[in-house]
Amino acid sequence: MPEYEAVIGLEVHVHLATASKLFCSCPNSFGDEPNTNVCEVCAGMPGVLPVLNAKAVEYACRMALAVHAEINQRSQFARKNYFYPDMPKDYQISQYDRPLCEHGHVDITVNGKTRRIGITRIHLEDDAGKNIHPQGENLSYVDLNRAGTPLIEIVSEPDLRSAEEAVACLKALHGMVISLGISNGNMEEGSFRCDANVSVRPRGSDRLGTRTELKNLNSFRHVQKAIEYEIARQCDALDDGEQVVQETRLYDSVRNITHAMRGKEDAQDYRYFPDPDLPPVVITDEELTQWKATQPELPAARLARFMDEWKLPAPDAELLAADPHLARLFEDAARLYPEARKIANLMLGPLLRELNQHGAATADMALRPEALAELARIVDQGLISAKIAADIFPELMDGTAMPEELVRGRGLVQVSDGNAIEAAVTRVLAANPAEVEAYRGGKTKLISFFVGQVMREMHGKANPALVNETLAHHLER
Ligand code: ADP
Ligand code: MG
Ligand code: ZN
Repeated sequence: MPEYEAVIGLEVHVHLATASKLFCSCPNSFGDEPNTNVCEVCAGMPGVLPVLNAKAVEYACRMALAVHAEINQRSQFARKNYFYPDMPKDYQISQYDRPLCEHGHVDITVNGKTRRIGITRIHLEDDAGKNIHPQGENLSYVDLNRAGTPLIEIVSEPDLRSAEEAVACLKALHGMVISLGISNGNMEEGSFRCDANVSVRPRGSDRLGTRTELKNLNSFRHVQKAIEYEIARQCDALDDGEQVVQETRLYDSVRNITHAMRGKEDAQDYRYFPDPDLPPVVITDEELTQWKATQPELPAARLARFMDEWKLPAPDAELLAADPHLARLFEDAARLYPEARKIANLMLGPLLRELNQHGAATADMALRPEALAELARIVDQGLISAKIAADIFPELMDGTAMPEELVRGRGLVQVSDGNAIEAAVTRVLAANPAEVEAYRGGKTKLISFFVGQVMREMHGKANPALVNETLAHHLER
């Protein structure tokens, strides 16, 4: 059996956070009452004319600059013709042979190895509406609120060689998008959607194998799992003497498999032609210069800066730098209390745990940098232990309480009173004579048991350094 190599290319659709839709003035907002943000243009009435949203063009170009792509100062919209009930125009307005941007790249690092992944193109297009099939009802609904909202499609070259690389590439693009502020990047709501094209070939071959296109990948984890499954499935098929069929497959996250959805269309099936209602998109030198001069900081630059200026270790810096909201909170807090690593630890531990637990978006965080800085400070001062800091963290999330006032009011301030600790240590040792003997006989690992017991006696409020010191002193005797 030959050894196989996986080949993966990504198509990423990013919902742009403009105020209005791509070709009309309807609000571009998510979660409203169905069919309330609809006009003649996005409902596809005959005789209407689309007018291009300039902000969407700017956003697409900012993404192009982020991936070092060439911006075509003259590009063209094209009609991609197909019928579906959620698309009343019967065509999507997209770009075909003259897209807005081409020939970019992103650098990714996986297992210490950095590789450059080509970005074939970035183009603008409008989104379709949504068909809704309620369970138990014998009919379907169409909601056109999303119809006509702006998307960019980012297409990568088939340069990725593993599921890990695909996820790294996707995360890099995601970090850019949210740092540019051109999208909220929400994968569950479909604001950042990814199709993965996967094929395999005998290692060493330079010909591309037949690809399948995986859809329904609405988290980084699903992207990873679906690609892994698909690579294994295709290798098995080839080993069994079968052929891979070019098709679109859906990922089923419950069963962790992919299954065939439909045969894959070819471009010629769509009968693309230039949209006669839309003149070419022209981008001036002045616009380009202005956008370049006002690009926000991107994750790669921020990562380098966090390591250099704040001396954060790479993995911490990477996590904080990838998200502009975390990055801002970190820097604001670190400026107030320049123990940067301690601030970072509070964010990567208790804060991320809180956010994950509630599925909360970093953009909506109300936690104040002042509270974070103060929390780090009162731990350092020995006022509270790290454990108490973690315990009260959830109460700081709504941005009202301040930690010092909170722990004082609650009587959570750490006990550094030598007599109280001495008394607790004496009680614990008296209550556990067997462990004391074992410890003195050489089982020094029992120290953490004693510390735990003393902490329990003192409701977690004892100064840990003092507890350790007192215990050591008593046990040595
Ligand atoms: P389509 O709309 O037909 O899917 P696109 O050009 O938009 O075509 O996207 C093609 C995507 O598939 C690109 O990301 C490209 O890198 C990838 N791709 C093309 N051929 C292969 C292949 N044999 N194996 C893996 N990926 C491929
Ligand atoms: Mg495709
Ligand atoms: Zn409209």
